[in-house]
Amino acid sequence: MTLRLYNTLTRRKEEFVPLDPANVRMYVCGPTVYDYAHIGNARPVIVFDVLFRLLRHLYGAEHVTYVRNITDIDDKINARALERRGARNVPVLDVLRELTEETQAQYLADVTTLGNLPPTHTPRATDHVPQMIAMIAALIEGGHAYAANGHVLFDVASKSDYGKLSRRPLDEMIAGARVEVAPYKKNPMDFVLWKPSDENTPGWKSPWGRGRPGWHIECSAMAGDYLGETFDIHGGGIDLLFPHHENEIAQSECAHDGHPLAKVWMHNGFLQVEGEKMSKSLGNFVTIHDLLKDWPGDVLRVNMLKRHYRLPMDWTVIGMTESRNLLFEWLGQLTQEVADAVRLEPGRYVSADFVEALADDLNTHSALQEVHRLRNVAAHKPSRGAKLTLADSLQLIGLLPFNVSQSIQDLFPNPSADNNEIARAIEARNAARAAKNFAEADRIRDDLLAQGIQLKDSPSGTTWEVKR
Ligand code: AMP
Ligand code: ZN
Repeated sequence: MTLRLYNTLTRRKEEFVPLDPANVRMYVCGPTVYDYAHIGNARPVIVFDVLFRLLRHLYGAEHVTYVRNITDIDDKINARALERRGARNVPVLDVLRELTEETQAQYLADVTTLGNLPPTHTPRATDHVPQMIAMIAALIEGGHAYAANGHVLFDVASKSDYGKLSRRPLDEMIAGARVEVAPYKKNPMDFVLWKPSDENTPGWKSPWGRGRPGWHIECSAMAGDYLGETFDIHGGGIDLLFPHHENEIAQSECAHDGHPLAKVWMHNGFLQVEGEKMSKSLGNFVTIHDLLKDWPGDVLRVNMLKRHYRLPMDWTVIGMTESRNLLFEWLGQLTQEVADAVRLEPGRYVSADFVEALADDLNTHSALQEVHRLRNVAAHKPSRGAKLTLADSLQLIGLLPFNVSQSIQDLFPNPSADNNEIARAIEARNAARAAKNFAEADRIRDDLLAQGIQLKDSPSGTTWEVKR
């Protein structure tokens, strides 16, 4: 099976050949932790989780290393910590730690509920400042950076191919990046590697005084630390293409004797909500946390994967409902026994067409069409083999539930009557039956059925499930 991936660096779909098949390495830019992550942030997490799973399937789980960092040094975090401290008489640095720890824990809980595997490493910027300082020192040493006014800046003119990823003319880059023009910069495009901190801002001792790293160097240092000078795949949202990824390339290549940072650069398209860009001011800002109150995580996952990762996507409630119904149809063909068998030997029963679709630049759209075809086979010519193939294909993209019937029930958390109401109706029906009022008992049963609730009588009592 040939894996082909679209490389933003070359603007082409290319055959993927790992640098070392015994250790396929991927880095994806993670969240800046100061607030709940929104459903747009969930897109790269889900997309690159599917790629991680596919790489594990193709090369073996123990041969893939996936790093997704946590950005816990950032001026937005500092500003939010000051806001959060308010008039309280506590050190702002304590508030800041509380904020980042809390947000990071929330983020990891959210993305786990969306069915994502934990990456191999989840490094935090605060734990890697010495590596950043070392990299900055190497850049100065090599003539690619200079200290000025308590800052250290990357000297863009020292790298002749600066801009090769985003391929923008210099003047456009300057306008696009809204670069800060400062008197101590040699060139307006020069970007910050290190900046001074006051007592209310986190800071670390460095050869250039107490200060903190810039955002771009955080990723270069963490990627280098875990994956080496050159690795296979670097991913993130398309908004990070410039300046973040361009600057990561410039720093890492200059600090590493010109060795490329990553062979393949991958970018997911942007997600908007009901036709509009998500923004706090429009009030259409949907956090993963809020969404999970109304929908199981797997529904958002299906919804995301229906759309090819490079295309822009529009998140809608109608789309979520359709995704929920699809998942309902797929899971409806599974049994717990089949799901457990697949879990024992993941990848053994998967459909070749399904893997082929994924291997074509992660074409999850056609992979899900194949899932639907497998569902139809399992529904119309039921066999254990058909069910195993369906289950294993779902497994490969993180959609196989641990508890099949529970997951099916969870798809309809508010099935037009809440659980207490159902329990009360069951009691009323039992009372009617005890009084031999069978007409009333049947009426209650049919009423529930009309709402999609099917009652099941057994010697141990009456239970219910969502009607299939
Ligand atoms: P941030 O915390 O803003 O740095 O974003 C974390 C990740 O989410 C990055 O890879 C961004 O590119 C990505 N991202 C942010 N907003 C969206 C969006 N609306 N659609 C898709 N990806 C996004
Ligand atoms: Zn990054």
